[in-house]
Amino acid sequence: MDRYCLGQVKKLRLEDWPTDDKSLCPDGKEASLELLAKIKAELYDLQVRLHAEKKHRLLVILQGMDTAGKDGTIRHVFGGLDPQGVHVATFGKPTALELSHDYLWRIHQEVPARGEIAIFNRSHYEDVLAVRVRHLKPPQVWKKRFDHINDFERMLTDEGVSIVKIFLHISLDEQRERLLKRKNDPRKQWKLMPEDVKDRDLWPHYVEAYEEAIARTSTAHAPWHIIPANRKWYRNVAVADLIRDTLAKLKPTFPKPDFDVAAIDI
Ligand code: ADP
Repeated sequence: MDRYCLGQVKKLRLEDWPTDDKSLCPDGKEASLELLAKIKAELYDLQVRLHAEKKHRLLVILQGMDTAGKDGTIRHVFGGLDPQGVHVATFGKPTALELSHDYLWRIHQEVPARGEIAIFNRSHYEDVLAVRVRHLKPPQVWKKRFDHINDFERMLTDEGVSIVKIFLHISLDEQRERLLKRKNDPRKQWKLMPEDVKDRDLWPHYVEAYEEAIARTSTAHAPWHIIPANRKWYRNVAVADLIRDTLAKLKPTFPKPDFDVAAIDI
């Protein structure tokens, strides 16, 4: 599924990319649930092999504006996998210890081992997004980071890590709807951060930061995918489909026993 793969580009305009496409699943939500269940069964089968084989490593990087659905994507797409082979790393505001190191220090520790899938809920991209938009470092510092990030990801792919970078693309109107829902649902109010509401004013700055960051770091070895995410059910299918295809290309297989199985008497 490469319809949402950006490939290598000089410039990106997010407004040229859909937030509410349905092309993978034109029959709507009901049909999508069936399709998602089917893809998830395939994902599970591939993951069990990946984990047994201990050869490949998959890193999924999830980015998106506030409320874009990073948490929901993790629950709905990866929820059925064997937890022994998956880990989620969530990158919030850096701690004092993390800030006393270089910005990739905390990231590198969470890169998957052989046989593992790691999912990054936010990532090193915050160091050219939040850091830029909130003026936490001057431009001469964050501008150098695009090259660092490309070199870092190149090193990882050279060392056998497959990287899938996903931008969950929602519209400003959809974000408003989601914030309103959070405000009105007692089970979701804890997620409503006053800063997130204030951050809506920064939306155009985040768009600018994302457009440059994605265009500068969409490489042959680690391209970005811009997933339409206004409809949650569609987003789930699109992400699951992408991960399934990526794993299938790795052709994970159960290791062959290096002894004569028939000779074992049980
Ligand atoms: P979420 O919004 O993902 O549910 P939080 O409410 O904990 O989770 O928000 C995490 C915050 O941490 C975001 O505002 C994000 O921009 C910020 N953040 C993450 N990484 C960095 C970083 N390297 N530097 C500054 N801020 C960061």
